[in-house]
Amino acid sequence: MFKDLKSLINLQKIDNELLKIDELKGDLPQIVETLEKNIANLERELENDRSREKEIILETKDLEGQIEDNKEHLKRYQDQLYLVTSNKEYDALTSEIETVRQNIDTAEYKILELNEEMENLKEAIKGKDLTLKDKLNEIKFRREQLEKTNEKTNDVQEKLMKNREAVVKFISLRYIREYERVSKAKNGLAIVPIRQVFEEKVDKKGNIEYIPAQVSCGGCHTIVPPQKVVEIRSGTNPIRCEFCGRMLYWDEHASEIRSINEEEFI
Ligand SMILES: [Zn+2]
Repeated sequence: MFKDLKSLINLQKIDNELLKIDELKGDLPQIVETLEKNIANLERELENDRSREKEIILETKDLEGQIEDNKEHLKRYQDQLYLVTSNKEYDALTSEIETVRQNIDTAEYKILELNEEMENLKEAIKGKDLTLKDKLNEIKFRREQLEKTNEKTNDVQEKLMKNREAVVKFISLRYIREYERVSKAKNGLAIVPIRQVFEEKVDKKGNIEYIPAQVSCGGCHTIVPPQKVVEIRSGTNPIRCEFCGRMLYWDEHASEIRSINEEEFI
């Protein structure tokens, strides 16, 4: 076996365990992160909505004040209307009255618009409050789940990481680089055992015999040519799958697969 192979195999076994831990946590870390962002956004929106609510109240009060003032003017002008003696004065006064009436109309219309905005805003706040409550409940639940999983796995993970560091020291840099590159590209699997299928054959006398049949890559299942299998089994040189580029090795337990050739039973 070439010097680095055993360590590379060990490294892959450690990484497989680490992958299992990640799978156990599933999407929980991302779910919690997304929830945190959603909650922060909702809180920001609610804060904006509430300050707009206050603004609307102030704007409405201001407009109501304007209406009151204008109504007073209107009353005064209307009273004066009875006292005018010239047409010029009359025209000037009616034009003032018209302006004041328009001011009142505009302010009342604005108040209506603000009322409508306020109604929509209250509705939106109600909805966002409910969503926020849901999200807060969910994040509490998810955080507890993650906490529990972390409690279970943190020690194991830490040990595995320490073992990993120790194993990596025994591997030449070029193989480590290759390992990391392939692992990243191939779902965390950089080195895999080949799969040698032995087909069960039963002769006419009923004797069972296992015939070595195809050999394939344990990662992508591409057939490995027989001359390569000999080299892989000797383990003297690094041999890679022609299709997926993963390094291949022979594993006493995982590589032999006994299958039943059903045709023989017909
Ligand atoms: Zn392959």
